[in-house]
Amino acid sequence: MTTLIVQKDKLLYNLKAIQAMTGVQVIPVLKGNAYGLGEIEVGRLFFDAGVRLFAVSRIEEAERLAAALPHAEILLLTPYSTESDVRRIVAAGVTATIGSYESAVLLNGIAEQCGVKSRVHIKFDTGMGRFGFLPEDAEKAAQAAKYLNNLEVCGCFSHLSNCFGRDKKSVFRQLDLFMKCIGTLRRAEIEPGIVHLAGSSGAILYPKLRLGAVRIGSALLGRVSVKNKLQLKKIGRLESEICEIRWLPAGHNIGYANTYKTKKPMRIAVIPVGYADGLFVEKIRDTFRMRDILRFGWQDFRLLFGRDKLYCEIGGKRAPVIGRIGLCNVIADVSDLDCNTGDIAAFDTNPLFVNSNVERTYI
Ligand SMILES: *Cc1c(COP(=O)(O)O)cnc(C)c1O
Repeated sequence: MTTLIVQKDKLLYNLKAIQAMTGVQVIPVLKGNAYGLGEIEVGRLFFDAGVRLFAVSRIEEAERLAAALPHAEILLLTPYSTESDVRRIVAAGVTATIGSYESAVLLNGIAEQCGVKSRVHIKFDTGMGRFGFLPEDAEKAAQAAKYLNNLEVCGCFSHLSNCFGRDKKSVFRQLDLFMKCIGTLRRAEIEPGIVHLAGSSGAILYPKLRLGAVRIGSALLGRVSVKNKLQLKKIGRLESEICEIRWLPAGHNIGYANTYKTKKPMRIAVIPVGYADGLFVEKIRDTFRMRDILRFGWQDFRLLFGRDKLYCEIGGKRAPVIGRIGLCNVIADVSDLDCNTGDIAAFDTNPLFVNSNVERTYI
């Protein structure tokens, strides 16, 4: 059987390390099934550790989490603007995001019909180009907050488009625009509530971005695209039992496309885990820019010459993965290992890509 191991102690360690480093409220972002870890389990674990505010991206996620954690506040980061969606948000009692005057009016009207005040965060688009009031429309956000009486503003936020270290100028331009929007609200005597801008990379790299809170997703898994200064613990271990062990003679092919030939008689283990489970699919790359193409080309080059081999761990020892990864099986060289069928082979894998059918085991 194949299972994704989620180490709760490491998750809590990462949460506490980020809380200690930033010194501000940490809002765990549990979108994408908590980056593959399991939204409900992670939500409960963090709730028990004292977290009371969580963020997600989609209505379905917000509904599920609100049902599982009735005493927590769930912030839906995406502004929705169709009536049926907004009705669901109000019914679930989650905190909505408003990103335009029209959607704020719609939410206000439905909240009024239902006889409730809807808690909201105001989203500003300072450069991501996705959702939110543009900085030049900050006055409209202030008007919405002032005149729509069934909305209660509890926070304001924006999202960074490029905080991975190299483009400091665009980061601080966004911070500057965001603070101007907050200034506009304050001048209109609107109390902005919790003010938050940074995700994991921004929060780690730039103390100035931490403001009133940080929204943290990938750093909880210890998988950040910036230098891991905090020594966050990496989470994501895909385990599977070896289903076949055999000797192959010298000169025998291993795997699809005939990319690997044994140089000597070799003892191999077949492990029933592959791309279909999400194994190593994170090696698929974003090659949007020339520098990414060069970077990945260099990685492929190193892989080809054995500098960055893929490994699994069997009985505490490393075994190289050989041949191409299959959809359902991989092969490891266990010539030098003492192991049997039924032994566990473990792979370091980003949980985000682990197929949702794969069982999660919380330890
Ligand atoms: C995903 C997301 C985050 C968290 O991003 P990480 O870089 O994974 O920490 C924060 N804010 C918004 C709006 C997001 O969509």
